[in-house]
Amino acid sequence: MPELPEVEVVRRGLERWVAHRTVADAEVLHPRAVRRHIAGADDFAHRLKGHRIGVPSRRGKYLWLPLEDTGQSILAHLGMSGQLLVQPQGSPDEKHLRIRVRFADEFATELRFVDQRTFGGLSLHDSTADGLPDVIAHIARDPLDPLFDDEAFHQALRRKRSTIKRALLDQSLISGVGNIYADEALWRARVHYERPTAGFTRPRTAELLGHVRDVMTAALAVGGTSFDSLYVNVNGESGYFDRSLDAYGREGLPCKRCGTPMRRRPWMNRSSYFCPRCQRPPRVSS
Ligand SMILES: [Zn+2]
Repeated sequence: MPELPEVEVVRRGLERWVAHRTVADAEVLHPRAVRRHIAGADDFAHRLKGHRIGVPSRRGKYLWLPLEDTGQSILAHLGMSGQLLVQPQGSPDEKHLRIRVRFADEFATELRFVDQRTFGGLSLHDSTADGLPDVIAHIARDPLDPLFDDEAFHQALRRKRSTIKRALLDQSLISGVGNIYADEALWRARVHYERPTAGFTRPRTAELLGHVRDVMTAALAVGGTSFDSLYVNVNGESGYFDRSLDAYGREGLPCKRCGTPMRRRPWMNRSSYFCPRCQRPPRVSS
């Protein structure tokens, strides 16, 4: 799954190539890609036609394009393999092209939603007073959002009676932190993923949030440099930040801090990577 930095890279690309353009028409090539738009493919296409796209926004991993003067936004679900591409008009269709949006201007490019597995898609939703699509109104701000409230997050963490990695992935507490960046930030903070949140002190929360932000900012910087073309792209296993990972995917490799072989443990149908020396597990009372 793409995480916040990858989604932000896509958002920037869309801002550069798609914002302020008026839709000439939209073509749905596979109904599954608009299945979250309950009124169906024809309605989806009809509602886009003739409207200008506003500046794309993001909260956590959620990305949307406001449709000016409609009170609605196009929410993009990238799923496992969804891509938003800006391609020259007339370039060959991708094998898994699902939706095409043409624009009424001279730029001769179009927006394409391509998705091999079609877990993702596009859908239209009413906007809340904050400008969010209503279906994601419950999603918390992400840690790169200037309005993210560190103190409120700390208090929520203390109340949660959870463990720290679960809390980091809880989108109602903090959004945009996925499995990879959680492991990276926990390794940097030397915190084991199963440490109870109730015991977190204010300095420890602050330190961890600092690492979360650093990891995401670093990934953004790397993603940003590889992105300076017409090609807006995202996929779950994109390689452009792999080489900077310290924990995730490093089972058996020496910890970059102490040299101890890193471990991997199954965790909620996923994996957790950690250093058994730097990140001591909490004592379990038996
Ligand atoms: Zn270590």
